[in-house]
Amino acid sequence: MANVRYMTKVKKIEQLSPEEIEALQPVERKFVFRSNDYYNNLIDWDNPDDPLRKLVIPREDELSEWGELDASGEHTYTKAKGLEHKYSDTALILFNDVCGAYCRYCFRKRLFMNDNDDTVRDLSEAIEYIKAHKEITNVLITGGDALVASTKKIRPLIEQLRAIDHVKIIRFGTKMTAFNPYRFINDDSLMEMIKEFSTPEKKIYFMNHFTHPNELTEEAIKGIHRLIEAGAICTNQTPMLRGINDDVEALKTMFEKLSEIGVPPYYIFGVRPTLGNEPYTMPIEEISTLFEKARVQTSGLAGRARFVMSHKTGKIEVLGMTEENILFRYHRAAEAKDRGKVMVYKRNPEALWFDDYTELVEEYYLQ
Ligand code: SF4
Repeated sequence: MANVRYMTKVKKIEQLSPEEIEALQPVERKFVFRSNDYYNNLIDWDNPDDPLRKLVIPREDELSEWGELDASGEHTYTKAKGLEHKYSDTALILFNDVCGAYCRYCFRKRLFMNDNDDTVRDLSEAIEYIKAHKEITNVLITGGDALVASTKKIRPLIEQLRAIDHVKIIRFGTKMTAFNPYRFINDDSLMEMIKEFSTPEKKIYFMNHFTHPNELTEEAIKGIHRLIEAGAICTNQTPMLRGINDDVEALKTMFEKLSEIGVPPYYIFGVRPTLGNEPYTMPIEEISTLFEKARVQTSGLAGRARFVMSHKTGKIEVLGMTEENILFRYHRAAEAKDRGKVMVYKRNPEALWFDDYTELVEEYYLQ
């Protein structure tokens, strides 16, 4: 399949019945839909619980009034048009507001809404900001998904970033390797760009987003291979989601496969309390237990992911649990006072997010 066909209306999905399409109209009006025929063909349409179906096809319970649109307070860290700066060494460029398909659980679904002004076409202000902040050594290009755009559109940004001496690592946050691997299989100019700008001393990273082993198709593996061959470094990050990958066997298979193809698992995320995400949420302690069960069954290489919550204050890692307590550590902290802080809280099996832990037992610093 060389040409992947995109669709932005649920009614274009021929596998859904007219009744299903009708029932999903209010959901589609609230949270936009997008998918493509490559990804839809990975779904077993006879199985209403197919994990990839749950990933892209809207569902009525998304309409429950739960969560907020910007659950991680990203607006607070917007420092220039199209740029967020939360951790001192890393800046984030919101390149565009489209993805290869839309994950129903997306924490940035505000970008796809009509009144979004977080992404911009003109990134000159963002580039000037990075130039002026010498502490920025890492730039993450995200959105949306920059890889939806043509290489011709991406290249000028990479050229500008590579001209800034203190920017060492350029990362792409992308789910295109899962949503449309042909983007990587068919585009030689993308590979040439990576060869040119992922240098022995300054690498380009692809932070992939494989959520379930069913996404690791022959085509996806080929796409990943092309990236690695061109000189990119690959990793993987995904949330753990109710009904999609809340399964030890699926996680174990995915971690192993990812490590075999050269994509080390990097982060497992808790689902942010974002509007529309209630059906996908899981208690933190359940995620921790499933993650640990899967991790201990894999090799050291496959089990490298950390379980973190992208909280307003930083990336909070779940280190483990005792009968009574749960241990957290700031893996990354927005404020210097939190760096290296370990926090011990009384367990709360209902907790869906860090803020649901209220009984602090003790806190100390590792540094
Ligand atoms: S690929 Fe990322 S930004 Fe795009 S819809 Fe999925 S979670 Fe959201």
